[in-house]
Amino acid sequence: MLENRFNYIVDYDYDTEYSCEDSGCNEEGICRCGHISNISINTVDITKLTNSIYESLVDKSKAGKRQQKLNQLFYGGEVVDKYCINRILSHYKLHNIGNWNVDVTGGYYGDEIGDVTMNGIVFDLISSECQKLMELETLSEKIKLVLNLEYGYLLPDIEKSDFEIININKSDIDFKSLNQNHIRLVNEEKELNGLSHYNSSSYHLPRGVVRKIGNQFKIVDGFHRMIGYDGENSFSVFVII
Ligand SMILES: [Zn+2]
Repeated sequence: MLENRFNYIVDYDYDTEYSCEDSGCNEEGICRCGHISNISINTVDITKLTNSIYESLVDKSKAGKRQQKLNQLFYGGEVVDKYCINRILSHYKLHNIGNWNVDVTGGYYGDEIGDVTMNGIVFDLISSECQKLMELETLSEKIKLVLNLEYGYLLPDIEKSDFEIININKSDIDFKSLNQNHIRLVNEEKELNGLSHYNSSSYHLPRGVVRKIGNQFKIVDGFHRMIGYDGENSFSVFVII
C-alpha cells in the first residue's frame, strides 16, 4: 500500500512570521507564535519518487526477495518495474508542482510543516495503476499497460508483440524516417531546458520502446528520453520482437 506522504521527495520553502512582542514569547522564554506563510514548492525529485514508490510496493519478505530474483529472469525485475512507475508518474504529471500540497499543522510551539502530499485524485490514480503494474507478471503486459495509459490504445502490431530489453547507441536510431516536426519540437524543448531530467546523469532507466528495422531502430515511444540523452555510451530500451 502506498502512503500519501512524500516529505523527502519535494523541495519546498516557506516564511515564518513572528509576533513575539505581542504574544509574550520573550517574557516566557518560549516562542509559540510562529505563523507559516508563503509556502512554495521548488522541485519534485521524480527519480526519488519512483524509487520510493517501488520500495513501498515491493514485497520485502524472504519469499518476496526470492520472487524478485525470479522476476529478474522472467521479465527484467526491478528496472522494468521502476521504468513503468516512472512512466505512470510522468503521465500524471507529478513533476508539476500544482499536483502537490504542503500542509501546515499547529504544534505546541507554533506552526509546523505537516505532510507533503499528492493531490488526492492523482494519488488514487497513481496508486491503482502502480498496484496493477506490480501484479502483472510479464514484460509484455507491463509495457503494454504503460503504452495504453500514455496513448489510450496499442498500435495493431504491438498488441500481438513481445518485448526484449537491449542496449543501443543513439547513433543506431533512424531519426530521418520519423516525424520531423515532432523531433523539431522536442529539440526546441531541449534547447530551452536541456531536457535535463533525461540527461545521462539524472536518468538511468530504460529510455523507451523501439522497433528494429534492418540495422537501425525507430522510436515508438520515448522521443524526449532518447533525444535528451547526452552520454557517449549505449542505453537500454525495449525492442519489439
Ligand atoms: Zn514568538
